[in-house]
Amino acid sequence: MIKSVKIRLKPNGKAIKKIFNNTIKREEYEWLYEVSSQAISEAFNDLQRAFDNFLNGKSKYPRFKTKKRSKQSFYVRYDRMNIKNNTVNIEKIGRVKFTTNYYIPILKSYVNPRCHFDGKYWYLTFGYEQDENQVELNQDLSIGIDLGVTNLAVVSHMDNPIKNINKSPKVEKLEKKLKRLQRKCSRKYEMNKNGKKFIKTKNIIKLERKIKLIHRQLANIRNNHIHQATNSIVKLRPYRIVMEDLNISGMMKNKHLSKAIREQKLHEFLRQIEYKSKFNGIEFVKADRFFPSSKMCSSCGNIKKDLKLSDRIYTCNCGLKIDRDKNASINLSNYKLA
Ligand SMILES: [Zn+2]
Repeated sequence: MIKSVKIRLKPNGKAIKKIFNNTIKREEYEWLYEVSSQAISEAFNDLQRAFDNFLNGKSKYPRFKTKKRSKQSFYVRYDRMNIKNNTVNIEKIGRVKFTTNYYIPILKSYVNPRCHFDGKYWYLTFGYEQDENQVELNQDLSIGIDLGVTNLAVVSHMDNPIKNINKSPKVEKLEKKLKRLQRKCSRKYEMNKNGKKFIKTKNIIKLERKIKLIHRQLANIRNNHIHQATNSIVKLRPYRIVMEDLNISGMMKNKHLSKAIREQKLHEFLRQIEYKSKFNGIEFVKADRFFPSSKMCSSCGNIKKDLKLSDRIYTCNCGLKIDRDKNASINLSNYKLA
């Protein structure tokens, strides 16, 4: 008897690289040979990682990238990279001057160096090994953080909530400007249409560059805000930080919430709190998803089952009257591990 078997083959970066090397013609892809062979090789490792993440359910199916449209970035050979007098050596490119606000120790090698372009400047990023920060933590201070849409975060031991940067006049103004330019751009595409074909005129190229720069500016403002927010929390030196285990991917399915979450970069906030905690020896705890952080009274522990989303103030029979998110953050700060 023959028993049939079916196995799913995993994409293999090395095998794909082999096929790639055997099929592409040098005459056609001259530009591929202008760069370091390691940069190309690393692209296949990235592909392998992307497939692994997809198969482990960590991310979506890898998207096709092109030289023209995708973010411009490449891997730099770490063993050829060295830093001297504000210049860095990059294989096949040579010595490049740089500026930075970071302290850079001179080491034999760095981890995973990569170059990328953000629409205005080129950046080189890399990591290096460092000991954990030796700071004295306040052993009585446990902090709870409630993430939200109205405010970015309400912190149990901070007087004021951390604001949602997207509601600041600066960001709102930029968003408006962006929308205006995007409309103008699509009008121009429509105007210069040749039959069914869109044509990129010089003016469109100019406009698209402007749009890109505003996107860049917005991203910088948002990132900077999150870094400052997470820094200000870690600086309180708590021995632990508790956050809700946000079901962000579930929330992303809600159309209204997804835009707010994307713009607030809640994922990024979580990531930063997690790694900054680790770096400072602070215990980071994700509370159980079913922990009733909003419904529980932070004073007497009573649970209010009929709490509505519109109830911004939490009132309890014990006399407590408190901002809903503040209440949640205090409950998180008192969270007990099961
Ligand atoms: Zn109460």
